[in-house]
Amino acid sequence: MYQGLINKYREFLPVSDKTPVITLNEGNTPLIKAENLAKKIGLNCEIYLKYEGLNPTGSFKDRGMTMAVSKAKEDGSQAVICASTGNTSAAAAAYAAKAGMRAYVLIPDGYIALGKLSQAMMYGAEIIAIKGNFDEALEMVIEISKNYPITLVNSVNPFRIEGQKTGAFEIIEALGDAPDYHFIPVGNAGNITAYFKGYEEFYALKKSSHLPKMMGFEAEGAAAIVKGERIYKPETIATAIRIGNPASWKQAERARDLSKGIINYVTDDEIIYAYKLLASTEGIFAEPASCASVAGVIKAQKLGLIEENKKLVCILTGNGLKDPDSAIKYSQSEVKKTDAKLDEIIKVMKF
Ligand SMILES: *Cc1c(COP(=O)(O)O)cnc(C)c1O
Repeated sequence: MYQGLINKYREFLPVSDKTPVITLNEGNTPLIKAENLAKKIGLNCEIYLKYEGLNPTGSFKDRGMTMAVSKAKEDGSQAVICASTGNTSAAAAAYAAKAGMRAYVLIPDGYIALGKLSQAMMYGAEIIAIKGNFDEALEMVIEISKNYPITLVNSVNPFRIEGQKTGAFEIIEALGDAPDYHFIPVGNAGNITAYFKGYEEFYALKKSSHLPKMMGFEAEGAAAIVKGERIYKPETIATAIRIGNPASWKQAERARDLSKGIINYVTDDEIIYAYKLLASTEGIFAEPASCASVAGVIKAQKLGLIEENKKLVCILTGNGLKDPDSAIKYSQSEVKKTDAKLDEIIKVMKF
């Protein structure tokens, strides 16, 4: 029986027999071949989608959180804290509940998808909404965790990165080697850092023959790394990557440079296009921020950055169900209403 990523990848993780494993059986997510999508955009490559929205709380944050909360528990900590655009708070709250610990989450008021907020509420976190953005919230939780007995579980916590690197292990195992290109949304830049660490470790162990080119995509209104400066008022519909001062900025640049990849940005329109295309051609519903990876493939193709007959992996970081408001707003699908009469329904169906 699969028992979560710490048990699966124990030998590659900083855990011991003394570490209490706090798991919800995260990881082991499917890598789905996207032939319709490749055909639709006219790309002569194999595209694979790593559907991280199928993790227990619906995003990749669970990979990092099983490690961060297990290590916090091992250290005797009784509470965790994080700043969050939504998914980190959902994951922190769930794993804290499982561990019997308290969770405090700081969120930017008004900029968190309702599904994510409902999760943190149900899992029993203390939720504090600040009149500020994610970057400000992160500065505050770092300060609080320095002065009070509470463990910080944002991705500046190195155990988060350790847990998240297992995504790269799974991809190498599924494909039999590393892909040629790895497309990924970039917000706080922890995940691109984690994936590259995973790829580097398996390459060093000769479990893969090469490193993939790391292709990171920020949202245009929050493209600090691309523009080379902190964005004080980040804006994008992709709230999960609405971050103007990425904590793992330098590590993301290192991944880009060592892998000969890129960090670029996609516009909100490009994200929305990819969001709808993915759902309608592949039957996969991922939240807007996730679709920055697919939008990135389309942009990179236009820029002539993708060679033919290569293998691409896109990380779909979170589940579309977390943000039904965006789905209803952007799908442009209409709900047709009729009386409960057969002939009227048939008429609407245009038979
Ligand atoms: C957290 C998150 C991201 C950004 O990941 P970083 O590690 O902050 O770069 C992207 N998409 C979703 C759905 C997320 O929850």
